[in-house]
Amino acid sequence: MTSQFDVNDDAAKRKQTSPDSESSSTCGPQPSVSNEDASRRKFLQMAVGGAVAGLVAGGVELVAPTRALAQSILTPEEALEELLDGNKRFVDVKLTSFEQDLAILRNHTSEHQQPFAAVLACADSRVPVELIFDQTIGHIFVSRVAGNFITSEIIASLEYGAAVLGTKVILVMGHGSCGAVEATVKHTLAPGQISALYPHIQPAVDIAGTDFDAVAKANALIQASLLRKSSTVISALVNKGKLLVFAAFYNLGSGEVSLLE
Ligand SMILES: [Zn+2]
Repeated sequence: MTSQFDVNDDAAKRKQTSPDSESSSTCGPQPSVSNEDASRRKFLQMAVGGAVAGLVAGGVELVAPTRALAQSILTPEEALEELLDGNKRFVDVKLTSFEQDLAILRNHTSEHQQPFAAVLACADSRVPVELIFDQTIGHIFVSRVAGNFITSEIIASLEYGAAVLGTKVILVMGHGSCGAVEATVKHTLAPGQISALYPHIQPAVDIAGTDFDAVAKANALIQASLLRKSSTVISALVNKGKLLVFAAFYNLGSGEVSLLE
């Protein structure tokens, strides 16, 4: 999160050290310069290819290729499809994200970002969000908290992703064998402030009972619904057809992400 909010400072520093670098706004929706009729995947691959060409041809002059990284031209439906297609590649162990040059991507996104999707996920180490959707730097705006529930800070983060960065889909994603869910179901006595997680997940326990995965799914549905209702920013974008919000469930064993609604 820090990098997004410190972006102006970063831009200022780069301007001092690299006077030729682009210094335009880093946050607002960037105009699309391309109406490529290729598929989404092809477009993304072309964008990266453009970055490579820009580096080779123009040294550090990355202005045009940067703007070509316009994931925001995706519709909400296409953004969701891109996530699910990426998850299928992950399940099939046919990842493509690692084919992209990470050094170029870091350079390319160092001053701005245009993630096409946001994911609210659990902090669980077995839920590596970018990996399970076969995505790389700059593609997914990720918020994580054990139990993947909504707080005002999480809402603020997701609002920033949608309203400022232009994410087109938000997945609220629970997962199997969730420790936060299990502890809530069992009312486990825990040290420190761990039990502060429980009240957020308890409504799902009240609905789904003691089956951990059923509670995790109910919790994802509840949190997605809460997000739609409690954020005027997000609900307005949803109502305008500019944003989709879905609850989802990640199966640790199969690697598959399934939509719950
Ligand atoms: Zn979890």
